[in-house]
Amino acid sequence: MTVAVVLFTSDLRLHDHPPLRAALRAADEVVPLFVLDPGIRAAGFDAPNRRAFLADCLADLDAGLRRRGGRLVVRSGPVVREVTAVVAECGATEVHLAAGVTRYAHRREEALARELEARGVALHVHDSVITAVAPGVLTPAGSDHFAVFTPFFRRWSQAALRDPYDPPRAVRVPAAVRGEDPPSRHDVTGVSPGLGPGGETAGRDRFARWTRSGLAAYADRQDDLAGDATSRLSPYLHFGALSPVELARRASAHGGPGGEAFVRQLCWRDFHYQVLAARPAASVRDYRTRQDRWRTPEEAAEEITAWRDGRTGYPVVDAAMRQLRHEGWMHNRARLLTASFLTKTLYVDWRIGARHFLDLLVDGDVANNQLNWQWIAGTGTDTRPHRVLNPVIQGKRFDPEGEYVRRWVPELRSVDPRRVHEPWRLPEAERAALDYPPPLIDLDAGLARFRQARGRS
Ligand code: FAD
Repeated sequence: MTVAVVLFTSDLRLHDHPPLRAALRAADEVVPLFVLDPGIRAAGFDAPNRRAFLADCLADLDAGLRRRGGRLVVRSGPVVREVTAVVAECGATEVHLAAGVTRYAHRREEALARELEARGVALHVHDSVITAVAPGVLTPAGSDHFAVFTPFFRRWSQAALRDPYDPPRAVRVPAAVRGEDPPSRHDVTGVSPGLGPGGETAGRDRFARWTRSGLAAYADRQDDLAGDATSRLSPYLHFGALSPVELARRASAHGGPGGEAFVRQLCWRDFHYQVLAARPAASVRDYRTRQDRWRTPEEAAEEITAWRDGRTGYPVVDAAMRQLRHEGWMHNRARLLTASFLTKTLYVDWRIGARHFLDLLVDGDVANNQLNWQWIAGTGTDTRPHRVLNPVIQGKRFDPEGEYVRRWVPELRSVDPRRVHEPWRLPEAERAALDYPPPLIDLDAGLARFRQARGRS
């Protein structure tokens, strides 16, 4: 009887799962293993919203495996120790896992390879599980990664993606391997009240519904804040409950401007992973320094708090920051304008904003969060690094009826939709009756400070 172990990490699904498929083909029995690794918490990647969503994903994965005659083996402890212990318990001869895309994951793979090799156990690392195209596969002449999105997208679009794999019909797990109960979302405190459900089943349902109702119009509606017309699949992609290869293939097959625009967004995800894989330090350091001398957290303490709490006096910024706290998710347009407001209008270090987002975002990941923050701060891959988004113009353009603002900022619900983005222009008596702060900063003054800091005044 041959046994293989599949170590699940950021790939919590049964559909289109190359490591599981390879293990099932190679061995009579397979141990689907997930390790709750204290190293993740120590590295600061852990946050209540993601912990709760992870619990849903694990419960759903376990249920899916049980329907196929198996189960998920959950263990707690340092990942290398637990994998080697499971290998010893079941006499496995091989371990399969998805190639990681972070520095943490690479270290994990190296340590696993060392330990398993010493025991005569083969480690198989599979590409195109967490990303559609593995980081490092596409490179421009003379560099180890693409630093600009558009040429990357051109090459990425030509890459042949494999056909997605069906889920397994049956999984036989050796009886002797012990595991613990998967964690429950109900045991996690500090979770955002509006956090959506996790798991492959919920993700596939959402994708199927959204393909029917949202994909065709996606290109036209992706910036409509109130319409909330994006897929909201990012948390499922983050945990690997959905396969980026499958999503890209299906959206391409759907075609039309919506399908094309959606595939392009999926490519942004791969783009950031390949930047971070080549430049891991970009998670904490400027990818391209602009010699910024950001205001210190002490200098900007009140502004940072107002930004985090959604009390800046700029309605669309405040709506977005409150959405983030309530749902653990924020619309992309809102992420752009709140990040621009913090880094450019308030001239606060992008790392402070990125940390707050990582504390709350259910889809928060190092590559896409840090590098999008750097993009908007102008220290990343944006080819127009000094542009500043004006929150009033952004609000009027992407929330013309003020519906998004009034949804998230109840203090402004009674305000005339045409005036909701500039409450300071309301008649004095009406403004005084609102429990809403005046603007935290004069936008022109913020712009002048930023331009001067960047040597562009
Ligand atoms: P859709 O518009 O439906 O797009 C489909 C998928 O494409 C998304 O689920 C996502 O996986 C990918 N995608 C879309 N836009 C981007 C992008 N700009 N960069 C990378 N991938 C993208 N995305 C994360 O997944 N994790 C993060 O931590 C994260 N932090 C961000 C921080 C800032 C400051 C900004 C400006 C953007 C950030 N994004 C992040 C990117 C983007 O905002 C989200 O992926 C998107 O809003 C998720 O919503 P959706 O699933 O409805 O996206």
